[in-house]
Amino acid sequence: MLTLQINDTETKMYNLQEIRKEFPILQREVYGKPLIYLDNAATTQKPLCVIEAITEAYTNVNANVHRGVHFLSQKATEQYEEARETIRHFINARHSNEVIFTRGTTESINLVAASFGDTFLQKNDEVIISTMEHHSNIVPWQLLAERIGIKLRVIPLTADAALDKESYTTLFNEHTRLVSITHTSNVMGVTNPVKEFIDIAHARNIPVLIDAAQSIPHKKVDVQQLDADFLVFSGHKIYGPTGIGVLYGKQQMLEKMKPYQGGGEMIQTVRFEKTTFNELPYKFEAGTPDYVGAIALARAIDFVNTIGIEEIAKHEQQLTRYALEQMNRIPNMRIFGKPDGSAISFLVGDIHPADLGTLLDRLGIAIRTGHHCAQPLIDHFGIPGTVRASFAMYNTIEEVDTLIAGITRVVKMFA
Ligand code: PLP
Repeated sequence: MLTLQINDTETKMYNLQEIRKEFPILQREVYGKPLIYLDNAATTQKPLCVIEAITEAYTNVNANVHRGVHFLSQKATEQYEEARETIRHFINARHSNEVIFTRGTTESINLVAASFGDTFLQKNDEVIISTMEHHSNIVPWQLLAERIGIKLRVIPLTADAALDKESYTTLFNEHTRLVSITHTSNVMGVTNPVKEFIDIAHARNIPVLIDAAQSIPHKKVDVQQLDADFLVFSGHKIYGPTGIGVLYGKQQMLEKMKPYQGGGEMIQTVRFEKTTFNELPYKFEAGTPDYVGAIALARAIDFVNTIGIEEIAKHEQQLTRYALEQMNRIPNMRIFGKPDGSAISFLVGDIHPADLGTLLDRLGIAIRTGHHCAQPLIDHFGIPGTVRASFAMYNTIEEVDTLIAGITRVVKMFA
């Protein structure tokens, strides 16, 4: 259990050093240098309580969920369902049966594309996405397009790389059936005003899916306040384990949708003549779920709640503002979009992003380079890729200073 008092309630201090102690990997060195981990948009590091939750679950309560009358199975089931309740509370869903456990954002979007697609879409129907989507919010819709002949409409970007709201409103027509857009860009760290985009769609009776993979670790996400019809995220980007994620869907929508996969747990009765399906959320959780992953994800959410998502957001915004200030002093620095607290994508002069990334790595700085699984956005900028530094609750101003010093050093080498 987490016993750490991370926030001093009297002084309201963000106790960064105490937080860092919870992440064992942050103590390690790479190439003889202290690790500076700035690849958090790809995956976050795991606090001890999450690592321990996995060990605890396998040590003390491991048994397949939902199917056993015996003690261990009931304990595992209890913890699995408590985990669902933790997630429900965290995103403020109305009912826990609106929380489906999946493998992650990618599987959640594939689930909606397949199931919403099979239930509601036919040839020539249209789905609106945007230029700044991750491939996992593009390709599932393209596969559906190949399968049943739907069409994709793409929201363009404004000159400062924001979603173009005016153009968005012109994309709707009598064929529009769904809008599927990202909350925060994984490349630019720009958060979109998705509530406005949802309202515009709802005014036309069109449901909206929000890809919250990059927003959920950095800000309060409230599905009822947003009025999102679907919202998806991955556990590993919010300090939880890999292989577990969430699909939130409004109950009335999920109830109408066909199952995604067939197998155990998602059925009520199976006869060779006809099978009937289980109620929500189990209808969408075929087979043995990753109950240990779900339990450990709930522990990660408890950890985030202990610190406070608003406190984390404030800290990360401060880091981002400071990093931007420092970066803008470096000649020929080009920053993409208007980052607001999670990630910064940049290029310096004509230094190739892979060269910059490799040299920074030698200084112990883990950043990501390339297209970040968002090739259409990279093409939009007409560049080979970017260098991306992305922040988490445990990063420090000193780490940003080391990053800036590292970039400056590489720039000098190329001068
Ligand atoms: N959507 C966004 C915005 C992402 O940043 C990512 C991962 O980087 C994904 C979707 C895919 O997430 P996962 O690989 O965890 O399924």
